[in-house]
Parts: sequence; C-alpha cells; structure tokens
Amino acid sequence: MNPYMDRGEEVILHTYNRYPVVLDRGEGVYLYDVDHRKYLDFASGIGVYSLGYSNETFKHNIKEQVDKLTHTSNLYYNVPAIEAAEKLIHATKMSKVFFTNSGTEAIEGAIKVARKYAFNKTGNTEHEIIAMEHSFHGRSLGALSVTGNPAYQEAFKPLIGGIQFAVFNDIESVKEKVNDKTCAILLETIQGEGGIYPADECFLKEIEKICKERDILLILDEIQCGMGRTGTMFAYESYGITPDILTTAKALGNGLPVGAFVLNEKTAKASLVPGDHGTTYGGNPLACAAVSSVLSLYEDEKILKNVQKISKYFEKQLDKLVDQYEFIEERRGKGLMQGLVIKERLAGDIVKRALEEGLILITAGGNVLRFLPPLIITEADVDTMIKLLKKSF
Ligand SMILES: *Cc1c(COP(=O)(O)O)cnc(C)c1O
Repeated sequence: MNPYMDRGEEVILHTYNRYPVVLDRGEGVYLYDVDHRKYLDFASGIGVYSLGYSNETFKHNIKEQVDKLTHTSNLYYNVPAIEAAEKLIHATKMSKVFFTNSGTEAIEGAIKVARKYAFNKTGNTEHEIIAMEHSFHGRSLGALSVTGNPAYQEAFKPLIGGIQFAVFNDIESVKEKVNDKTCAILLETIQGEGGIYPADECFLKEIEKICKERDILLILDEIQCGMGRTGTMFAYESYGITPDILTTAKALGNGLPVGAFVLNEKTAKASLVPGDHGTTYGGNPLACAAVSSVLSLYEDEKILKNVQKISKYFEKQLDKLVDQYEFIEERRGKGLMQGLVIKERLAGDIVKRALEEGLILITAGGNVLRFLPPLIITEADVDTMIKLLKKSF
C-alpha cells in the first residue's frame, strides 16, 4: 500500500493524519483495502453508510440515474429532487426542504434562515445565535463559528459575529444567554464529535419552551444522530419535541454527498425567498436519487426496527466491557450511536490497534471510543466486533 500512501501525501493537502490503510471496496458491513485485507466497519465511513456497502436496490437506483441525468441547474425542476423532498417531508412531518452538498452547508443555510426570519420580524441585523460548548457543526466559516471548540476556531478568526456559547445540558447557562436579540438556539440532539453526549430530556424540553415563548427558532443538528441511528427516524422524536429547523446529511445519501435543511411551516413562510440562497450542485438528480432510494429502503427493509432490536444487544455487550475492563469508565449513547469513555486518553491507541486487528472504529472528544455501525448489523456482527475489540485491548 505504501506507494499509494506516498503518492497521496505528495499531492493531497495534509489536513488529516490518515491511518496507513488504502481502502478499495466495500461488501456488506466489511471494507477491503487494496491488498485485500478485510475490515469490519463499525464507523460506517463516519456515520454515513447506514445501509451497508452491498444494498443492491440502492446501487441499482443510482446507476439508473447516472444513465439518465446527474445534473440540472436549480433554475429547473427535476423529478428525483421532488420525490426525495416529498419523502423527507413525510419522514420529518415538517414543511419545506433545501438540499445541500454537505452537512456544513446545511448549517450555513440554517443560520441564514434564522437570521432572515429575525430580520423580517425586527428589520435590524443585531441578532444572536446560542450554540453549545463542545459542539460540532462543520468546517466552513459560519458552521465553524457555531462550533464550540476553540482549537478548531483559533487561527481562522474573525468568525461570524453574534454567537454565544452555553453549556450543553445546563439550562441555566442557556437562560443566561437568552435576550431580545436571540434569534435561534442551535444544538445537536446527541453531541457526536464532542464525545457522544445525549441531551437530557428536560434540557431539550425547556429549550423548546423558551423558543416557543420568545419566538426563537430551535435548530437541531441531526447530521450525525439522525436518519434512524438512535432507533427513531430523527433522534428528537424520542424526546417528544420538534425543531423549527432540522439539519441532516451523513447517512442521508448512504455514501453520496448530500445534506439538507428542513423547515417547519412557520419558518419556511417567513424566511428565505428567491435570491436569498442557492447552490449549483445541491439538489442534483443523482444525490436526490440516492436520498429517495435511502428513504424508501428504510421503510421497505424495516431499518428502524433493526436498530431498536439490535441496539439492546449492542448496549448489553458494551456494558459487559465496562464491567470487565477497569480502563473503561462508562458507556454513553443511544441506539447505534455509542461511546465508551476510556481512561488516560488511550482511545486513539485502541483505534490504531483495532485497525491492525481488522476493525474500524473512530474516536470522539479525545477520550471516547465511538461506535457508529451500519444500521443493518446483526448480533453476529456485534459478537465479531467485541472479539476483535478485546484482542486490541
Ligand atoms: C459531520 C457533521 C457536520 C458536518 O458535516 P460535513 O458533511 O462534514 O460538512 C455537522 N454537524 C454534525 C453534528 C456532524 O456530525
């Protein structure tokens, strides 16, 4: 593999410290490198390949679209975008969709919607957004500005203004930041990159209440925790709350680059209008054929049911590890979005060792082993993963 790695480092900007693996193809829940070594993928890319690598219907649907058309300008309609949007509206029970190419662009759009909504109401531009510490929303400048991680932000200042950070799961710290200028509160329903922290139910409910009372928009970033990962189509459903703006991406295209921001009726009616926002590739027929196929397959293949069933078993096996190994502090997470908190920041070393054993995992928040397996895993896959993980321990 070394010649490829050397060639890659020669020409690709070094913004990642990559693992020494050159991935070549996928099959089921396994990836293969160019030397034909096999890896059990318990990261799904990064929370992307929910349906695994071998869904024949999905492959057929996108191949068919490749033969028809992959791009049209957004000055025209295209059928895959309409169908994908209908299915996403059906799944979210919200009102309007805007398709983007990535998660970070979905966040950019959500920020613009919130600012426009407030501008329409007040006619001024002094608005503030409250985001959370330890959050992650993407790398473009708007999304970076609401990402509560100073290490990612430092060199890129000045960022966009009017952003306040509150402490996740601390409602008093949110209340302290709310004022007449606040136009939106933005958070991940379950923080992913920050270390797998689910929001407390009372925290989310209180935030929803504040937002309703003061006509502040609630933006939920479900780019990682959404699309069935926690056992409901979107994680907020299990909290009994609804956002005004939802962002989704990662698993939305099962490997094709696509994201979306989705608005409820109130927000859609009083925010972006023609001329306010646009994209060349967003909503293109190929990406939307993927979204459409994914959303149908979730229903046809009863993906949520499998997540609900398998995650009980998965949690049990992880809890056993917590009992067995004293360097594991605790398990956190929901459904198939799980983290094991590892003492002495050994998580990175474990991920490296696991890779040598043929198991792909990722870290989160520095000290957390993060599990985001494909949503189609079986008990046997969990058993194999546990066996490989124990070897790497
Ligand atoms: C990955 C991620 C993003 C950014 O998505 P990209 O497609 O990488 O731009 C934003 N928010 C959350 C919660 C994410 O996990």
